[in-house]
Amino acid sequence: MAERDISKKRTYVNTDLCIACGSCVMIDDSETFFMDDDGFANTKDNDLEIVEAQMVCPTAAIFIKTLEEFKENRKSSADDQ
Ligand code: SF4
Repeated sequence: MAERDISKKRTYVNTDLCIACGSCVMIDDSETFFMDDDGFANTKDNDLEIVEAQMVCPTAAIFIKTLEEFKENRKSSADDQ
């Protein structure tokens, strides 16, 4: 498998913020978003910046970040607890 470019942005869902409205899945032509077994939105592994989904999310649960930024965010959230 090819090395992934960790400086490239991708789209994620913070499932803690998701209220399972389904809007992101409905507007996503790339079929990156899906509802997981717990009923919340999630994304397939991707290198996409799906701004439209971010705009329709009522709880700001969708983030577009590099892998590096994402890990840094998780680390600082964990540090806050
Ligand atoms: S639009 Fe936001 S709240 Fe609605 S399902 Fe997608 S991530 Fe969850």
